Amino acid sequence: NADMAVYRAKSAGRATYYFYDGEMGRQFARNVRIETRLRQALQNESLEMHFQPKVDLMTERCVGMEALLRWNDAELGCVSPAEFIPIAEQTGVILPLGEWVFEQTFRHILEWQKQGIAVPPIAINCSAAQLKRADFLMKLLALLEKYQIDPSLLEVEVTESILIEDATICAELLNEMSHLGIKLAIDDFGTGYSSLSYLKDLPFHYVKIDQVFIRNIVNDKSHAALTNAIISLSHSLNLKVIAEGITSLEQLALLREYGCDIGQGYLFSKALGADSLASDPMIVALNEQAL
Ligand code: C2E
Ligand code: MG
Ligand code: MG
Ligand code: MG
Repeated sequence: NADMAVYRAKSAGRATYYFYDGEMGRQFARNVRIETRLRQALQNESLEMHFQPKVDLMTERCVGMEALLRWNDAELGCVSPAEFIPIAEQTGVILPLGEWVFEQTFRHILEWQKQGIAVPPIAINCSAAQLKRADFLMKLLALLEKYQIDPSLLEVEVTESILIEDATICAELLNEMSHLGIKLAIDDFGTGYSSLSYLKDLPFHYVKIDQVFIRNIVNDKSHAALTNAIISLSHSLNLKVIAEGITSLEQLALLREYGCDIGQGYLFSKALGADSLASDPMIVALNEQAL
């Protein structure tokens, strides 16, 4: 149909025009640059794992840490994972990068253990593309073996998008990990297409309430109500709740009132480099407790 051909040509032309236009062109160029530099980063020393303590809100003891990628590129400077992880996911770089994250984290755990430092469970973020690989579990098991790491020291954080894309494969994998003793957390809860049935049917141990809710709980009644409801619901399903991004004592007081179990945020600590960890007061306290 001639009209359709004309229309398509026009919209294709429009798309092309916008593509090379100003802001979008610059954005595209930066993304390509990030992808290229990121592939090289796997070969040089510009990537590092940092670790953010998770705190029991009742005892204020450290009960775990989240492993978070940090990247200081020689040309681009510090790039936030919030920017480069989505690019890594779109381009497939997330596969080698994800393996690097597991390996480096395990290397740090082994190193701490050699130094006699009591290590709490460590949570690693995992993208959908990683979990979808048929060899994911086999590779993970090989790494746990290589670094002599007890699977119960490992937690895996996934976001809801994974569950939507391929629920059956995902359920199988999550069940296998859970049977190995790996704890599972659903990350950024409340922001995506939160379906409560995920929580009921899949073997999660933790729900992590997204920072957006915590940021607003003091000033916004609806965010407070939702946070409270997520906590009650999770508890009724025997899940523990982790609040992300706690920055103030007011937020902490409210979350305690709601019965939230665990918290993470700048109020307690930002993510720490592997070397500064041993001297961090929270880890020192954990080790005194362990003695
Ligand atoms: P996430 O898993 O939800 O991680 C929490 C993010 O909140 C981290 O940002 C952390 O530094 C930040 N954060 C913690 N406490 C506070 C606070 O009190 N205030 C504020 N404003 N932020 C706080 P980060 O490290 O920039 O990571 C962003 C996201 O990138 C992560 O969100 C995660 O989705 C992804 N990511 C980071 N490292 C990895 C990784 O190794 N693998 C994968 N697949 N994704 C990762
Ligand atoms: Mg996370
Ligand atoms: Mg999160
Ligand atoms: Mg997030």
